[in-house]
Amino acid sequence: MSLTRRSALAMTVAAGAAAAMLAGAFPGASAAPSPTPQQPSASYVYRVTGGVDRAEALLREGFDVLEERQGGDLFVMGSADVGTRLRAAGHRASVDQVLPPVNWAPPARSGQAASLDAAVAEETYAGGYRTVNAQYAHLDQVARDHAALATVVDYGDSWRKSRGSGGYDLKAICITKKNAGDCALSTAAPKPRLFVMGQLHAREITTGDVAYRWIDHLTDGYGTDTQVTTLLNTTEVWVVPIANPDGVDIVQRGGSYPYLQRKNANNTNGTGCGTTGGSSQVGIDLNRNTSSGYGVGSSTSPCSETYRGPSANSEVETKALQSLWRSLYRDRRATGTTAAAPADTTGMVISMHSYSNMVLFPWGFNSSVKSGNDASLRAIAKQMASLAGGWRYGQPGEILYNAGGATDDWVYDDLGVSSFVWEIGNPSGTCSGFTPAYSCQTSLYWPKVKGMLLYAASKAAKPYSG
Ligand SMILES: [Zn+2]
Repeated sequence: MSLTRRSALAMTVAAGAAAAMLAGAFPGASAAPSPTPQQPSASYVYRVTGGVDRAEALLREGFDVLEERQGGDLFVMGSADVGTRLRAAGHRASVDQVLPPVNWAPPARSGQAASLDAAVAEETYAGGYRTVNAQYAHLDQVARDHAALATVVDYGDSWRKSRGSGGYDLKAICITKKNAGDCALSTAAPKPRLFVMGQLHAREITTGDVAYRWIDHLTDGYGTDTQVTTLLNTTEVWVVPIANPDGVDIVQRGGSYPYLQRKNANNTNGTGCGTTGGSSQVGIDLNRNTSSGYGVGSSTSPCSETYRGPSANSEVETKALQSLWRSLYRDRRATGTTAAAPADTTGMVISMHSYSNMVLFPWGFNSSVKSGNDASLRAIAKQMASLAGGWRYGQPGEILYNAGGATDDWVYDDLGVSSFVWEIGNPSGTCSGFTPAYSCQTSLYWPKVKGMLLYAASKAAKPYSG
């Protein structure tokens, strides 16, 4: 049995998806019920007859097509309802195998491993998602294997580490064909910079996996893939795979059924908040905590999923990111909501979230206010959404609702750097939810987001001109 098949147990239960989206795909709905963790259920492999030329259509329709073929037959993995959906879409499908639920044990370790060795690098949960330690071991391994391309940067400590109670370093990796001055914490760096961040919201586990694959795509592709080679010769790519490691530490403790912790782990602002990622959860929402539009669309209740924190920029994870961004990008924008950054401004920051298939850009705190660079941001967002196969795009308040204190607003507000949020993931059905089956990453999300990332990198040099 292939790894893909064995890893299918975390199949998202479609019924939970609508509630999950309300509770936080685009947050602010603090009153909405929290999704319940997935329960164990069998997975199915369906045999689809009628020719292998159906593969493209199946993928387009969102089915999880396995690599395996037999004659003219293809195989699709899914939960019990997928057979019905295959037939409804006009395919001839029958059950080929029933796979029992597989339990993926939660990682034994909490907090950063003393040694980020090969064993740590294999740590996964929920069918293949990498733990924080596995992601960090990966960064070190990539830097060892590709010393001419990659540099790991420790940019701070998580809340728990800052308190001396476990926790993690905050880590980024800079990837480029290194020349003098590259990857320095200096705003005078010679190349334009694309910054990509995952898992600021801990439970949005697709985004950490996309970051992992993006790092490999760049470092493995240099010298063999023309597009990647050109990109790394001309651009610096910064990746923070896990911006909220304390939160992810809570998520991964759920093992097969990850805890849906959204926030960081700071428990000093209220008592009695839950510690297993339910609708009452400890911590501060790191995407409501910045000083840009602070207070809009967020909660003052410490156990709420959208708790903004006691004051703007209160959290160590927020401050560490802001300090890193200020050390990488020059401030090119005057204060005020309508001042434009000049046409020769360089750089782009992508904050990856999930889910609901959207591209968002500033201002998030008030969609009736258009930024000075609105036309350029909107045009780029439109192209990103198109590359994703027709996602929605706009200011948050145009397609969802206003929310302030987000990191993407802060990046544009403080520095004038172009800034986007991607909400990666189907809003319902196959591969939806915060914890889609791991096979969805290979079959659906990585192929889609790879093109968006390559486009983003190509626009980092001059986002506001042309
Ligand atoms: Zn999010």
